[in-house]
Formats: sequence, C-alpha cells, structure tokens
Amino acid sequence: MSSLTLQFADEAAMLTWAQSHALQLQSGLVIHLNGDLGMGKTTLSRGLIQGLGHEGNVKSPTYTLVEPYELDTLTVYHFDLYRLADPEELEFMGVRDYFSDQTVCLIEWPEKGVGVLPEADIDILIEPWQQGRQLTLTSHSPKGDAQLSAWASVL
Ligand code: ADP
Ligand code: MG
Repeated sequence: MSSLTLQFADEAAMLTWAQSHALQLQSGLVIHLNGDLGMGKTTLSRGLIQGLGHEGNVKSPTYTLVEPYELDTLTVYHFDLYRLADPEELEFMGVRDYFSDQTVCLIEWPEKGVGVLPEADIDILIEPWQQGRQLTLTSHSPKGDAQLSAWASVL
C-alpha cells in the first residue's frame, strides 16, 4: 500500500493533471472515487476519459449507473452509484463482466455497491483544499502500487 497526495488550486489544474496522466493508466484497474457531492469525482473522471482520447462530454451516469467509453487503448466504465438502492441491482446488470484486464473502472459512490463491486486497486479521496481540491490516492494491490509509482514519477 502506498499513497500519493495532489493539490489543485482550481478545476482547470485538476483537469490538466488528469488529461496529462490519463495515457499512463494501466488496464485492469478498479478505481474508487470518494468524496462528498460536488467534490469533483465526475470532473476527475472527465479529465481521465478525455485524456484517453474521448472527444465528447462526460456526464455523471446518475440514472443509467454506468457509461462505457470505448477508447483507442482500453475501455473505461464510469459508474455513478449514487442512486443505487441495492447492490444486487449490479448483479442483474451483469456488472461482473465489466471488470476485466481490458478495462478501467472509475466508480463514484462505491460504498453503495459493497459486496458486489470488486475491491479497489486505488482509492481516490477528494477533499476541499484552499479554493480547490486535495486528492489522496491510496493503492491496495500491486497493480495499484505500480500505477501510483508511474503517476508519481511524472508530476
Ligand atoms: P461530484 O461528481 O463529486 O459530485 P463534480 O465533478 O460534478 O462533483 O463537480 C462539482 C463542482 O465542483 C463543479 O461545479 C466543478 O466546477 C467543481 N470542481 C471540480 N473540481 C474542482 C477543483 N479541483 N477545484 C475547484 N472546483 C472544482
Ligand atoms: Mg458525480
């Protein structure tokens, strides 16, 4: 387990970081995005997905729960489980098939899917910091450790 702390003065700084570090993302990662409503979980996801080459918008899939992005190098599944009533709904969606070596899963409100969602390789906690945000990235697997090292080496 290792960790990496990043501080961004504003939304633009966070998007710039995400867009310039997205191509280093290794497939097979499960990333849990934690932080209150309005902290920037969707904004961070947007930066990563656009950094991987997606040209359209990225909105929180609040009602559909998950949005797939088939990109050049991998497929990203962006989850927003805020409205999930029961983790079993994820089973009905066949969600286990979404987690594979060829995908990266970014999951907002992962606590709503406990018991069905896989454990995180990386947890990202977003908190207020000055006028912007502080991100604490914590790895929980060798794959997660490798990703944090790769990101830390290019600040
Ligand atoms: P969440 O998905 O966590 O609910 P959003 O990504 O929808 O949050 O962002 C909520 C608001 O926070 C947006 O209005 C956005 O402009 C702002 N925001 C996002 N990231 C930052 C940041 N790094 N610094 C300051 N404001 C931010
Ligand atoms: Mg959101």
